[in-house]
Amino acid sequence: MNLILFGPPAAGKGTQAARLVRNRGMIQLSTGDILRAAIASGSELGRRVEDIMRRGELVTDDIVIGLIEGRLPELDASGGAIFDGFPRTLAQAEALDSMLERRAHRIDLVLRLKVDEDALRRRIAGRFAQSGRDDDNPAAFDIRLAAYNRDTAPLIPYYEKQNKLVEIDGMAPIETVAATIDSAIDGPRF
Ligand code: AMP
Repeated sequence: MNLILFGPPAAGKGTQAARLVRNRGMIQLSTGDILRAAIASGSELGRRVEDIMRRGELVTDDIVIGLIEGRLPELDASGGAIFDGFPRTLAQAEALDSMLERRAHRIDLVLRLKVDEDALRRRIAGRFAQSGRDDDNPAAFDIRLAAYNRDTAPLIPYYEKQNKLVEIDGMAPIETVAATIDSAIDGPRF
């Protein structure tokens, strides 16, 4: 079972992914986490993406597709992958489909967490106070949200056409969202 946790920044993807990792032995492939680790390590890649990420813009497709490709060998020995924050553009989605196909895998399910914009802003303000993440400030958040609406939202019809999209009320309490995700994964279609 390979799934995508899909939704705007601060929709709750990371929280739900962590739970699935704990409960189901799945691996979380978060391009945001991988990129932040690259910055923290001071690598050449980290230096290339640091300013882009701080502004809240997307890094190039080549970079994130390469990062994910490098992690796909881990798939076979796991209970499946949770893609978190990837894909974010149509080119990334198409590349993911073909990389998985070459390894005889596929995306089974795309879980879309729906949260309204005011709630996202409140969450970001709270997260900034806690984590101090550079791109959780209001200016960068506006750019991240614009990038989501422009580049990432078009993936909704892409996965709808493939009959993989499940919509989830991301405004509900965390446990309710978790229970809805569990029933989507364990549901009759699998
Ligand atoms: P996230 O932790 O998923 O919110 O990602 C943080 C930042 O990393 C984003 O605002 C982008 O700058 C960059 N990033 C993460 N994943 C991607 C992706 N799939 N495509 C382009 N940029 C990404």
